[in-house]
Amino acid sequence: MFALTILGSNSAIPTYGRNPTAQILQTQNDSFLIDCGEGTQLQIAKYKIKLSKLSYIFISHLHGDHYFGLIGLISSMSLLNRTQPLHIFGPAILKDIIDIQLKAADVVLSYELNFYAIEKEGVLTTTSKISIEAFKVNHRIETFGFIFSEIKKPRSILSDKAIEQNIPAAFYEQLQNGEDYIDKNGKTISNESVTTAAPKGKKYVYCADTLFDTSIVEFIQDADLLYHETTYLKDQEEKAKNRFHSTTVQAGQIAKLSNAKQLIIGHYSSKYETTHDFLEETKEIFNNTVLAIEGCCYKI
Ligand SMILES: [Zn+2]
Ligand SMILES: [Zn+2]
Repeated sequence: MFALTILGSNSAIPTYGRNPTAQILQTQNDSFLIDCGEGTQLQIAKYKIKLSKLSYIFISHLHGDHYFGLIGLISSMSLLNRTQPLHIFGPAILKDIIDIQLKAADVVLSYELNFYAIEKEGVLTTTSKISIEAFKVNHRIETFGFIFSEIKKPRSILSDKAIEQNIPAAFYEQLQNGEDYIDKNGKTISNESVTTAAPKGKKYVYCADTLFDTSIVEFIQDADLLYHETTYLKDQEEKAKNRFHSTTVQAGQIAKLSNAKQLIIGHYSSKYETTHDFLEETKEIFNNTVLAIEGCCYKI
C-alpha cells in the first residue's frame, strides 16, 4: 500500500498558499520524493515527514518549480548529520548543478550521495517491494514521468490440494512462481488447480509536466492513482498547447483512456486564486477525480 502526500500543488510561482511541485510517496519501509520545488523542506517539516525514511528522490525535469528546493534539502540533511546514502535520479546535468553548488560553499556532505542520470525509458531502480520506471512525456524540455509499482507477490499454495496431488514441498517455490507440476507418470497438474493468484500490486503514476499526448497512455495503463497536471482550465486549451501543458478536460481524457481507477490533478497556474473549477471541469470527463491539496494524504 502507498500513501501519497502533496507537498506542493502549484506551477511556476508559489501563490495563494500553494507551493511549487513536490510529492512524497510512502510505503511501510521507504519514502520516495517526487520533484522538489522551492520550499519543499519547509513542507516536509510542516507535515512531519520523517527524513530518515527518505532515501530516493526523483526529479522529472529541470524547470525551477520542480527542483529549486533540492540543494536546500540536500544541505539540511547533511547539517542534521545524516549518515545513510541518498539516491537521486534526474536529468544528467542536475549532477553538475548539485556539484557546483556544494563546491562553491566548500561543503562535504555527511552522507553518500549517489546520482543516477535518467537517459531513457524503463526501470530506474527496484527496492524489495517497489519497482520504479521512467517514461517520457511531451514538454518543452526533456521530461520524464514515473511509475511506482508494487512488485508482484508470489502465488499462494493451496496446501491441502498440493498434498492431495502428491506434489513435493521442494517444488513449492516453482508453484509460487506459476509453474505447472509434472508427476512421475508424466501427468500435468496445472498450477491454477493448486495455487491462487496473489492480490494485484498497487500502481501510482506521476505524469509530471506535459502537453496533452495520448502516446503516454500505453505506458500508464491501469493505475490505481494517476497524477496528471492541469495547469489550465478548459477555456485555455490554446495557451496550454503553446506552453506544453494540459487542461482539466485533457487530464480527464488521459485518465479515461488509460483506465485509471482514480485521478489526482495539480500544477495549477499561478493566475488562479481558487481550484474549485479545476475539480468541476475534470469531473465532467472523469468522475473519480480529486484535487492535489498541500498536506492532504491520499491512500492507494
Ligand atoms: Zn512545472
Ligand atoms: Zn515544466
